[in-house]
Amino acid sequence: MKKRIAYHALGCKLNFAEASSLSGDFISHNYMQVPFNQEADVYVINTCSVTETANAKSRKAITKAIRKNPSAIIIVTGCYAQLKPDEIANIQGVDYIFGTGQKQSIESIIEDLTKQKTPQIISSDFKSIEGYYPAWSSGRTRSFLKVQDGCDNFCSYCTIPLARGHSRNIPIAKILKQAKAIADSGFKEIILTGVNIGDFGKSSDESFYALLQALGKIDGIERYRVSSIEPDLLHHEIIDFVLEHPKFMPHFHIPLQSGSDSMLKLMKRKYDTALFRERIEYIRNKNKNAFIGIDLIVGVPGETESLFQESVEFVKSLDVSFVHVFTYSEREGTQALKIKPIVPHSERKARSEIMHDISESKHHQFYLSQQGQKRTALFEQSKHKTLMYGFTDNYIKVAIPNNKKFINTIKICNLDELNPKGFFESKI
Ligand code: SF4
Repeated sequence: MKKRIAYHALGCKLNFAEASSLSGDFISHNYMQVPFNQEADVYVINTCSVTETANAKSRKAITKAIRKNPSAIIIVTGCYAQLKPDEIANIQGVDYIFGTGQKQSIESIIEDLTKQKTPQIISSDFKSIEGYYPAWSSGRTRSFLKVQDGCDNFCSYCTIPLARGHSRNIPIAKILKQAKAIADSGFKEIILTGVNIGDFGKSSDESFYALLQALGKIDGIERYRVSSIEPDLLHHEIIDFVLEHPKFMPHFHIPLQSGSDSMLKLMKRKYDTALFRERIEYIRNKNKNAFIGIDLIVGVPGETESLFQESVEFVKSLDVSFVHVFTYSEREGTQALKIKPIVPHSERKARSEIMHDISESKHHQFYLSQQGQKRTALFEQSKHKTLMYGFTDNYIKVAIPNNKKFINTIKICNLDELNPKGFFESKI
């Protein structure tokens, strides 16, 4: 009888891509995948450590798995496992803890997994992290494809360079093989992910632009989306390529983090608001329908009331479609801990609410601006009785009557009426 593997990923798209790849490793060793809330023989938890809340959620997922089946083998990996292996080792019932650079070693021990009296910690400090764990997901319609890992930037508030090591990638030729395998599995869409994907090519003497050009030629994949890319690395040639190539969706995700130049300096970001505005306007002048999501962190040390107001005014002035708002939390080992003044927690919360309101309004305005258009959407399997959902090229959620024959197909949809739930219903 096949053993059962269940996995759970927290945090970024990269973690999801890696977790499902890890699950694929088990499946090729005669395991079957079951949902995380069901009894399994092995649980893999790919943790996140981006905030203190993420650490807490990671611990919760680990204890949930242990409670579900106390005799199951519990494997914990990811950023929290890299940064705080001892905290995880204190959770009774954990068997293996793999640092982010050791994910690849998990496959080599699949045949030998046993319940441990004390957890085995397989980790190393970030300087020696060389491991690049390739990842793509095993869903049905859209697959993540990890093209890069790590970061060399050391922004003052971020632990990712500590948790994932320096920037590195595998060569384009190997990524193309993975993309072909994804196409052969029937996927229509690939979402390119990485920690700092604009940095792609550093370790293979190639470029992100060259990667996009090569991927555009793969048969079978009809849509690509580029996930979060640093503004200073989002060069015009990349924007032009994404907006002009029929397989690349007009969808951008660009981290701003603050709309105040003083804060960007304190955060050790590599651009200023003028460069950021230039990038947004460049995209907009070429395509007014492109979806542009931006990231923002509120409450970072040094963010006085007036600097926050500067940030608010800047964000309001940008023609963007969505703002992903994050609330700052202290991270061990980061330079931000030395910066004053510290923003009180109640104020961080209030600032987050203000930015969320701005985001909601921008998102709504963007959806309204699309009313009356015809756009193509890729439809996914749905558990809803009457509706199935998809996303248009420019990331608008749209529903059509549920019909199995439309799963994993791209349809032209009329965006006639925005319903109160925040998506368009189309009759196609
Ligand atoms: S660019 Fe900055 S925020 Fe992004 S992963 Fe690198 S250090 Fe962290």
